[in-house]
Amino acid sequence: MSLEEIKSRIAKAETQAGRAPGSVTLIAVSKVQPLERVEAVLDQGQRVFGENRVQEAAGKWPAFKDRYDGVELHLIGPLQTNKARQAMGLFDAIHSVDRPKLATALARLAQEEGHCPDLFIQVNTGEEPQKAGILPADADAFVAECRGLELPLRGLMCIPPVEEEPSLHFALLAKIAARNGLTGLSMGMSSDFETAIALGATHVRVGSAIFGDRSYG
Ligand SMILES: *Cc1c(COP(=O)(O)O)cnc(C)c1O
Repeated sequence: MSLEEIKSRIAKAETQAGRAPGSVTLIAVSKVQPLERVEAVLDQGQRVFGENRVQEAAGKWPAFKDRYDGVELHLIGPLQTNKARQAMGLFDAIHSVDRPKLATALARLAQEEGHCPDLFIQVNTGEEPQKAGILPADADAFVAECRGLELPLRGLMCIPPVEEEPSLHFALLAKIAARNGLTGLSMGMSSDFETAIALGATHVRVGSAIFGDRSYG
């Protein structure tokens, strides 16, 4: 599918949901993709990208940022505290704030560096043991803790369990965000971004539908 097609599907979903045009940000997830595919999407004008590993992003994005103006990078994968400083230098937003230790580290670094990326708290809506994220029952307290640290909280993020109906998870995330006064909702991927938009997504993270399948060989 082309970038243009994805953008028009997003626009249509916005209209159908009664949302303002342009209220949803498309994050093109470029992890593991060959550089020439990423370059082609940059050449078509896309500027917001997502990566799930700090190391991989550090390897390819500084050169792209030199060549293309206005690139905005989002970290959508787990962040180790020992990579937090590097991540703060590279990324404009971090969607994977998932534990108090990381929140504390980010707050300390934000003080030192005088700036901080936009932050999203990852919520483990499916309560999957192997998945990162704050449990739904602990989310309100963690939001309060992040606010106490004066972190720039934008919203919440989730990755629904593969086997389950995503809309239940999107609705749960939207409910937790609303009761905490958070407006950002990072939810929806290639297979379900229209459903996510119907349920209030402000940021959709779309990889394979734009770039083609990832080969992990
Ligand atoms: C890889 C990834 C995506 C994109 O997935 P696609 O199914 O390729 O669109 C979205 N969010 C996260 C957290 C990811 O790791």
